Amino acid sequence: MRLDRSSIWPYDEHGDPREFYYSRYGNPTCAEAERQLGELDGGTALLYPSGSGATTGLVLGLLQPGDTIALAEGCYFGTSVTFDALERWGLRYVEYDQTGPPPDGVQLVWTEAPSNPYLTMPDLEAAARHPAPLVVDSTVATPVHLRPLEHGADFVLHSATKYLAGHDDALLGAVVCRDPATADALRTFRTRTGIVAAADTAWLLLRGLKTLDIRVRRQTESAAEIAARLAGHPKVLVVRYPGLGGLISFDVDGNDAARRVETSTELVVNATSLGGVTSVMESRYRWEGDRVPPGLLRLSVGLEDPAALWTDLAQALDRA
Ligand code: PLP
Repeated sequence: MRLDRSSIWPYDEHGDPREFYYSRYGNPTCAEAERQLGELDGGTALLYPSGSGATTGLVLGLLQPGDTIALAEGCYFGTSVTFDALERWGLRYVEYDQTGPPPDGVQLVWTEAPSNPYLTMPDLEAAARHPAPLVVDSTVATPVHLRPLEHGADFVLHSATKYLAGHDDALLGAVVCRDPATADALRTFRTRTGIVAAADTAWLLLRGLKTLDIRVRRQTESAAEIAARLAGHPKVLVVRYPGLGGLISFDVDGNDAARRVETSTELVVNATSLGGVTSVMESRYRWEGDRVPPGLLRLSVGLEDPAALWTDLAQALDRA
């Protein structure tokens, strides 16, 4: 697909708008990326300028002031930060253990598969039984491992910045909706509020999707191998790896040790984010404080040779 950077397209010969006329309403590159992502997740996809933008567009488009969200505890820290920012508009949330059923009396259930950085999997059957609509943030699982709409979810949320685009050069988000009419309503809200993705970034997503399957499968294989090796290392206290995707978290003894480990790798980059072709690792304590164990390290396994990755991690762990 050719990237179309236009923001306007001519009306037809009668002076009527064609399918595309002004980019905030839709553009061919974003529309093609939405078509492909919709196919992957089995629903109607909407792009947003970031994963957090997708979260904002979804909850503001769907909920009313005074509504409460049941939010999976230990899920992506930034999601609760986004909800905190929306609190003065009347949005509330309560945290719950997503491995069990969501609490009563909420208007939206928000799960994460698997959660970042605790890597728990939601009980989707229990969550789908709840009367409130169900969101699954499937950023880490990706459609390669999970199609949440087939498990009763109403919405799939992706930070496409991560595995979907996959090369750490695009900031992008998406919501995939089960119900086309709800997708239309969210699309209208998106157009009116202007929370729209750029064509350039959508093109980077299209490029990323061509290799999504092969990248994620290889990252999953490598992560399984690294997780097993971490579990046998004397400096590693706990390893969290649900057996799916390329994300691992593990604990060393305290934040000073975690800082020494994260700054001692040569191949693994000491940076935030996840899901790219390059392996990255960071102590999450710097961002999340007491919400995580001080010695927790989050490792996103990339496409490097797993033996070389382990050599690098093992020499860094020796400094823990
Ligand atoms: N959801 C998850 C699981 C994430 O890890 C992130 C970012 O780290 C987001 C949502 C937010 O995405 P973005 O950074 O694209 O706004």
